Amino acid sequence: MTSLSPVPARHDPYDADVIIVGAGPVGLAAAMDLDARGISVILIEQRPFLQPPSVKCNHVAARTMEQFRRLGVAGQVRAAGLPADYPHDVAFRTALTGKELTRIPIPPSGERYTSATGPDTEWATPEPPHRINQTFLEPLLVRHVAGLPHVTLLNTTRYADLTQDDNGVSATITDLDGASRRLPRARFLIGADGGHSAVRRQIGAKLHGDAVIQSVQSTCIRAPGLYDLMPGRRAWGYYAYNSRRKGHVYAIDGHETFLVHNHLTAEEAASGSADRDWCIRAILGVPDGFGYEVVSKEDWVARRLVADRFRDGRVFIAGDAAHLWVPYGGYGMNAGIADVLNLTWTLGAILGGWAGPAMIDAYEAERLPITAQVSKFAMSHAERVIKSRHAVPQNVEDDTEEGELARAAFGRQAYDLNVQQFAAAGLNFGYSYDSSPIISYDGEPAPEYTMGSYTPATAPGCRAPHFWLEPGVSLYDRLGHGYTLLRLGQGADTEPLTAAAAAAGMPLEVVDVPAGAAPAEYKHALVICREDQHVAWRGDAAPADPAALADLLRGAATARSWRHPVTAGR
Ligand SMILES: Cc1cc2nc3c(=O)[nH]c(=O)nc-3n(C[C@H](O)[C@H](O)[C@H](O)COP(=O)(O)OP(=O)(O)OC[C@H]3O[C@@H](n4cnc5c(N)ncnc54)[C@H](O)[C@@H]3O)c2cc1C
Repeated sequence: MTSLSPVPARHDPYDADVIIVGAGPVGLAAAMDLDARGISVILIEQRPFLQPPSVKCNHVAARTMEQFRRLGVAGQVRAAGLPADYPHDVAFRTALTGKELTRIPIPPSGERYTSATGPDTEWATPEPPHRINQTFLEPLLVRHVAGLPHVTLLNTTRYADLTQDDNGVSATITDLDGASRRLPRARFLIGADGGHSAVRRQIGAKLHGDAVIQSVQSTCIRAPGLYDLMPGRRAWGYYAYNSRRKGHVYAIDGHETFLVHNHLTAEEAASGSADRDWCIRAILGVPDGFGYEVVSKEDWVARRLVADRFRDGRVFIAGDAAHLWVPYGGYGMNAGIADVLNLTWTLGAILGGWAGPAMIDAYEAERLPITAQVSKFAMSHAERVIKSRHAVPQNVEDDTEEGELARAAFGRQAYDLNVQQFAAAGLNFGYSYDSSPIISYDGEPAPEYTMGSYTPATAPGCRAPHFWLEPGVSLYDRLGHGYTLLRLGQGADTEPLTAAAAAAGMPLEVVDVPAGAAPAEYKHALVICREDQHVAWRGDAAPADPAALADLLRGAATARSWRHPVTAGR
């Protein structure tokens, strides 16, 4: 068996450090993060430059916005999408033009940092969530990435295959304009090539889970007169419930464009019998004569599928390539970005020359269990939402006292069921890594991971709870490359740890936390945070063997060897 060495043979020429296949949101985030570390990237995308994706994701989670802040694009992202004064509420109605049952208030982007109204405004984060359609988000990120010094963006280029060996990976790619083939070589390859991932297939990963949860007929429409017919305050999301049809609608531009999700029964999905136009009119609550234009349509199946491996040797998969699930909780793209930024920081450490072999095992050990768990949250929430559609009272639209009581009761249930997915603090911040080879655990378990509620904690593996070091400066703004040692107790001696880190070549910057700045969860005098904002170690004093701790954190302590690449030579 060949053992892989992180140090390439001197004669081995590389076109880049990392090849990324796919410039969707996950591949773009990976390119941004690697570029910020000075790591060279070839980013391969089959679509032409700036060709928008299909109208899918509408929610950028707070955890993603925290990462966009670190990468310098949070302001641009927040300024894009719906107008700054457009409410990001979710309204539950009998139809878009019908009676309102309940509403989850969410501030417009212009008030996002200042509003204290609604269930998701008191989150412990410097960057609350943002609602923006992928058709606005992606071109913005593409433009940004195209200007980055260490990224070569190859549009209109299709990836076909890979071979890997002890020192690197070569990809076969075809320029779709000229049809010329090339074979770029890099030290690592990331497959961010979406649900039909070729890279996933080539590393032998298999998807497991539930293949069909819900079939959906999605239509993007332009309906200039719709807002004139709609009562009350505008909303970003609309859930429509009436006895004829149930569906979800998202405001895309705040003027005239909407994405309509029409939920199909199993029979309709099998027979293809759902009348798209009739269903859209029933969800909107508009008569036959109302004019709208179909911009695009995409019919899809909500699934819960997670790959059984995220890595083979020097090749990794992330995002939809690694998992596909029903987008409840708005966490498909966001989970993919969380995957890949977990991966790129470990690759940064390896390419920076200071990490050991266990560093490369951390990605799958940390992300696969969390991904499996999130997929189950999303599915069980989807199942409850699907069930609730069957419980819509027959008289929900009646102009009677009974009708009003029925609307109030159903509205309360809808609020309680859905507030946890639209104000999902737990989903965003509550995940922790409990079986990582590069985290030093101390026996305190992380709080339970749930979708709706978040209990901040500094147990190793948890996201380090955010706090302001000074006005406008978050803890996260001060986390440097590698590791950061927070000194919370004035007298705590940092020297044994900084000396051990220096001896091992591991970046470890000390940040003194002003007295009273950190919340109560920071109950130890010293806390080591990773640059991906997770706690790696904590204590009241340096451990007896600081060199052993440094070796553990940089992946040099365990005896695990790098996995043999099963795809080599294929
Ligand atoms: C209706 C709907 C609503 C959703 N809402 C949300 C939401 O609110 N929040 C959320 O987080 N997620 C949501 N999602 C999920 C989200 O859209 C996806 O999880 C996200 O797009 C995945 O990003 P990705 O970069 O992994 O893959 P993709 O977006 O699929 O990107 C993959 C890229 O790889 C390129 N590619 C593929 N193969 C090749 C090849 N051989 N050569 C070159 N290029 C290649 C493709 O062209 C594409 O650009 C939703 C999904 C749907 C269907």
